[in-house]
Amino acid sequence: MTPQSEGQLRGIGMTSARTRARLIVKLKEMGICHPQVLDLIEHMPRHLFVDEAFASRAYENAALPIGFGQTISQPYTVARMTELAIVRGSPSNVLEIGTGCGYQTALLSQVAGKVASIECVEPLYKKTTERIKNMGFKNVTLKLGDGYEGWPSKAPFDVILAAAAPEEVPQALLDQLAEGGRLIMPVGRGGEQVLRVIDRTARGFVTEDIESVTFVPLVKAVQDAAEAAGEEIMTLTTRTETTLTNATRTSAARAETSGAKSGSTNSRTTSKYRASR
Ligand code: SAH
Repeated sequence: MTPQSEGQLRGIGMTSARTRARLIVKLKEMGICHPQVLDLIEHMPRHLFVDEAFASRAYENAALPIGFGQTISQPYTVARMTELAIVRGSPSNVLEIGTGCGYQTALLSQVAGKVASIECVEPLYKKTTERIKNMGFKNVTLKLGDGYEGWPSKAPFDVILAAAAPEEVPQALLDQLAEGGRLIMPVGRGGEQVLRVIDRTARGFVTEDIESVTFVPLVKAVQDAAEAAGEEIMTLTTRTETTLTNATRTSAARAETSGAKSGSTNSRTTSKYRASR
């Protein structure tokens, strides 16, 4: 993949500004109200995260195939989870489980100090690493690995956000949550999943179930994912990590993180896609 041109980022026809604006109207109707989230979704070129055959549908509120048996979540769900992640201000350190095509990763990179994201399907991991690099998101680190384990060397996290559902919240993820931190993840089997938020307070964990959702399962072993993707299991036995230049956080940015209120956080214009507005 070559670095995207301004024209590609801006889009034409069904990927144009007008089409994106229609999606924002729809999201507002569905109850998304955080101005920063709406702004980010309006300007994030979702058509560059899906296969070209689906680019014309990228601004529908629909989940779409991203190859390897996986899907990009529908914009409403991504918006809802992002709202839940930043409702108390911008998090410094975020862990995402299930990178997929990197769309949610890219949004998180604009509201967080740094984002670590884990994907278990190797070809998807490789494709997304390339995409994230080409689009210029510099505060993102991707890893090929098992989301059940989290990423202990990068913990504690202010936000842990998952795009695939386990039957129970993995203890390892709770252990890696900072005090004052928040875990946002779908939990449950097939048709009975719920979007769960768990806040870690000084006195323990506080759980709230937000709404019914439908996500792909958080696969138990990396092996299952390889089978789903039709890949050789052997290719997934090596854990690989790619660091895309960690963001340098200034003291000003840290102050912003601690002082920011809902709706008033500033997005970090770390990617050139913002220039195409
Ligand atoms: N937010 C992503 C959603 C991708 S779907 C996007 O916008 O594209 C969920 C992803 O979780 C899939 O890519 C799947 O391969 C991944 N996944 C499932 N189980 C996993 C596990 N145990 N560890 C890491 N990733 C996992």
